[in-house]
Amino acid sequence: MKERVAIVGAGIVGLAHAWSAAERGHEVTVYERTKVASGASIRNFGMVWPIGQPAATRGLALLSRERWLTLTQESRIWANPYGSLHLAHRADEWSVLQEYYELQRNTELGTHLKLLSCEEAFERSPGINPVGFLGALDCDLEICVNPTETIRKVPGWLMDRYEVQFKFETAVAEVATGRLKTATGQLDSFDRIVICSGHDLETLYPEQFVDLPLKKCKLQMLRTVSQPNQWKLGAHLASGLTLRHYESFQECSSLAALVQRIAAETPELNRFGIHVMASQDNHGRVVLGDSHEYGDEIEPFDSMEIDQLILRELQKIIRLPSWDLERRWHGIYAKNTGGAFVSLAPEAGVYICTGLGGAGMTMSFGVAEHLWRQWDNAATEVLV
Ligand SMILES: Cc1cc2nc3c(=O)[nH]c(=O)nc-3n(C[C@H](O)[C@H](O)[C@H](O)COP(=O)(O)OP(=O)(O)OC[C@H]3O[C@@H](n4cnc5c(N)ncnc54)[C@H](O)[C@@H]3O)c2cc1C
Repeated sequence: MKERVAIVGAGIVGLAHAWSAAERGHEVTVYERTKVASGASIRNFGMVWPIGQPAATRGLALLSRERWLTLTQESRIWANPYGSLHLAHRADEWSVLQEYYELQRNTELGTHLKLLSCEEAFERSPGINPVGFLGALDCDLEICVNPTETIRKVPGWLMDRYEVQFKFETAVAEVATGRLKTATGQLDSFDRIVICSGHDLETLYPEQFVDLPLKKCKLQMLRTVSQPNQWKLGAHLASGLTLRHYESFQECSSLAALVQRIAAETPELNRFGIHVMASQDNHGRVVLGDSHEYGDEIEPFDSMEIDQLILRELQKIIRLPSWDLERRWHGIYAKNTGGAFVSLAPEAGVYICTGLGGAGMTMSFGVAEHLWRQWDNAATEVLV
């Protein structure tokens, strides 16, 4: 049955829900408090990164990836499905990559993985620093998108393709079964309201979040100028430091030695949650990051020390024709530390979806589609 659906928030989670609802033939209106979306979804790396997901959530990541390919092909929004390389510059990093490859050999993920020699890896990316380089794990699943351009173009595509309505500069102040009230006092009626307000846990149904293991996290990022002479980075690059960050590698028994060595050798990296990665956007600029500061550690101001540590670690593993920076920024997300996301139904016909943490670009299309398939069958409360 055709429903009138409201989505609160035009970040990636809200857009994913708007798309899934519109595909089902519902009449969809998206409310976004800012003039154009400005939250975590435009500030991220733009990495669609299934390799970071553990087995339990990999299926959702792969569903999401398929939907990214559909969306970017249909909308002609830029995407580069060029895959990723995890680089080993230390023996313990190489051990983890080898163990992970062996563990995945007979899984579906295994068909997308290869262990590369140094020579093979240089063919996938001229950006690898050869000093101390031992080899790489290649995965062909990862996609790079330009987050700022994508998040700002998808609304236009949803309007043209599905007649989704967008109300920008319209904050939602209150929601209840069947209706929402904007900050200017306008009342609108809907059959279903899905709140995707990112890390704003204070405005709508704040009491719902009190007992949940949700944490806010701040990340610092940097971006170079366009690389000279059309230079191409190739695959997304991730460092050995990244192996201790993504849950997927935690099944490797060899990870413990790497974690111990980093804690002893470079404790400053743990203090700021630093692991380093690089990807290149459609303008030739290389996006560099990142750090993780949680809860009470979050300051409104950015730290030069963190930027310098990120650059120091990146220069150990990659080489760029130009390290000139054109931009620095930070973003904040909400992370469910007890699962991949949070989905709540605080009242009949009202839903909340947030808490995707550092995997919102990777997971949103899969999570939204999964929830809409559940809601197609029954409107029940789900807490993952
Ligand atoms: C620096 C950084 C790098 C990252 N890199 C990656 C990556 O490479 N790959 C990956 O998978 N994930 C990455 N992430 C995580 C990903 O960006 C987030 O998980 C995702 O963007 C969260 O999306 P969201 O829609 O929940 O939140 P947001 O993008 O913050 O969107 C929420 C929107 O809701 C609006 N809103 C809030 N309250 C209201 C209201 N009451 N009324 C109207 N509008 C409202 C806000 O204005 C905002 O636009 C990264 C995050 C950061 C910060």
